[in-house]
Amino acid sequence: MDRYDVIIIGTGAGGGTLAWKLAPSGLRILLLERGDYVPRELDNWSTRAVNLEGKYAAKEEWRDGDGESLHPHTNYCVGGNTKFYGAALFRLRREDFGEVKHHGGVSPAWPISYDDLAPYYGEAERLYHVHGQRGEDPFDPPADGPYPHPPVSHEPRLQQLSEDFAAQGLRPFHTPLGIMLDEAAPQRSRCIRCSTCDGHPCLVQAKSDAQVVCVDRALEHPNVTLLTGATVSRLETDATGRSVSQVVVERNGATERFAADVVVVSAGAINSAALLLRSTSPKHPRGLANGSDVVGRHYMGHINSVLMAVSQCPNPTVFQKTLSVNDFYYGSPEWSFPMGHISFVGKLDRDTLRAGAPKLAPGFTLDLMAKHSLDFWLTSEDLPDPENRVTLDRDGRIVLRYRPNNEEGHRRLVHKLEEAMKGQRRCAVHGDACHQGLFSRNLYLQQRIPLAGVAHQNGTIRFGRDPKTSALDVDCKAHELDNLYVVDGSFFPSSAAVNPALTIMANALRVGDRLLERLG
Ligand SMILES: Cc1cc2nc3c(=O)[nH]c(=O)nc-3n(C[C@H](O)[C@H](O)[C@H](O)COP(=O)(O)OP(=O)(O)OC[C@H]3O[C@@H](n4cnc5c(N)ncnc54)[C@H](O)[C@@H]3O)c2cc1C
Ligand code: SF4
Repeated sequence: MDRYDVIIIGTGAGGGTLAWKLAPSGLRILLLERGDYVPRELDNWSTRAVNLEGKYAAKEEWRDGDGESLHPHTNYCVGGNTKFYGAALFRLRREDFGEVKHHGGVSPAWPISYDDLAPYYGEAERLYHVHGQRGEDPFDPPADGPYPHPPVSHEPRLQQLSEDFAAQGLRPFHTPLGIMLDEAAPQRSRCIRCSTCDGHPCLVQAKSDAQVVCVDRALEHPNVTLLTGATVSRLETDATGRSVSQVVVERNGATERFAADVVVVSAGAINSAALLLRSTSPKHPRGLANGSDVVGRHYMGHINSVLMAVSQCPNPTVFQKTLSVNDFYYGSPEWSFPMGHISFVGKLDRDTLRAGAPKLAPGFTLDLMAKHSLDFWLTSEDLPDPENRVTLDRDGRIVLRYRPNNEEGHRRLVHKLEEAMKGQRRCAVHGDACHQGLFSRNLYLQQRIPLAGVAHQNGTIRFGRDPKTSALDVDCKAHELDNLYVVDGSFFPSSAAVNPALTIMANALRVGDRLLERLG
């Protein structure tokens, strides 16, 4: 059995970032990734291939709480879901680390503060080439210095919208984005600012994903090995139950076993919980590291909606993800509870709409709709409910139970956005009717992201100080084991309402420092 210093399971935001951090140390590191590299081909940028045909999506069936089949919108590949993400890289707000009162209940405090993570946010922003403008976002937490790169400029339609929002007293800002765009020298820029970024792999490797930015660079070190097509099926412990002694892998139709001084699980919040739950033994009858019975519980994925605002004027924007609004993040003068975050998805087109669009008014063609829409993405915080959970069925398949909660803030956020849209300047061509929708109909189409949309999964192996209510300690080491760590989105005790990836990356860098101290 091959032995390493560190085994990392999963190469996404958590695992890939940790690999980059540990690689220069000379430690012998094995990366185990169930997927393969996303092939570089023209289909990377085809909305038909990616969204309609699901060419690169995980081919796996889970069950929901009613036993209905669930096809998760997730990706198994080197770089994990960051290969497909929109690269909106936000820090959580300082207040998100404390207890926050919501209309639907309480969002619990984290066992670390914003200040503990702040230096690692800075490191992650540099690593992932984040472009942004500090201080524009009204709830921007304090930072040591500016973003490493200037903000990505708005195209004219979004610039106009930004000005119209500002004229109403809102504080719209440039979304912090991890793309390798150089607007000052476009002829040299790796990123060409295309329309197929969010949800797609980047054909020219200009998106800061965990493969390009971390795994490829980690593999330049001779002490780092990657095995693809390597699905970890189980973790086994020694007789004491205190140490993971074997990592069991299914690869090329055979079972292989590996060992390491430290084993880091980073398979994504749902798969990591499932892996621990599968790894039962006499010492861990409820699943590995699960004496507390929290593993798999408190699943969160945000309350997410796409809201299409369809005006009479077309929206010719190519790269749409540049604008965000956080004014209602913690509430408003007439509503003292958090509502959430407003930003954009990549520009929708006919094929993407066909793959799962809001129900259309009769007579509209998908093409026409897409050409006239501004496509907002709204995120509100869902609260950790122990009954929202990952379990396994008799065949070891994943079951994901989820009952939405804390929805009132989200409803109000949608309403706030619709109000702000009505306050736009008068259109020179169509007058006020422009913003009342195509064919003079007031048209906002809202689609709540369904359970299968597990993009923001987190919370299933929470960290905390009390082993009775958390599975991981403050360093993301399992309370009950001496050599098992978790660095994907599982560790979140609450989900906040901004995209999770930068926090996962920053935490992986933090845990990386602990591991470097531990392993010398
Ligand atoms: C379309 C889309 C858009 C998104 N946009 C944004 C955005 O703009 N901003 C943002 O912050 N977040 C975004 N996200 C979410 C972001 O991608 C995730 O939060 C992040 O990738 C999660 O990191 P992770 O390390 O927890 O898991 P992942 O990145 O999912 O990595 C898990 C890895 O583990 C591997 N794996 C799973 N099971 C096993 C196993 N048993 N054995 C071996 N390997 C295994 C998987 O193949 C995968 O590579 C988006 C996600 C999607 C899908
Ligand atoms: S916008 Fe830039 S980073 Fe994104 S897919 Fe296009 S070229 Fe790649």
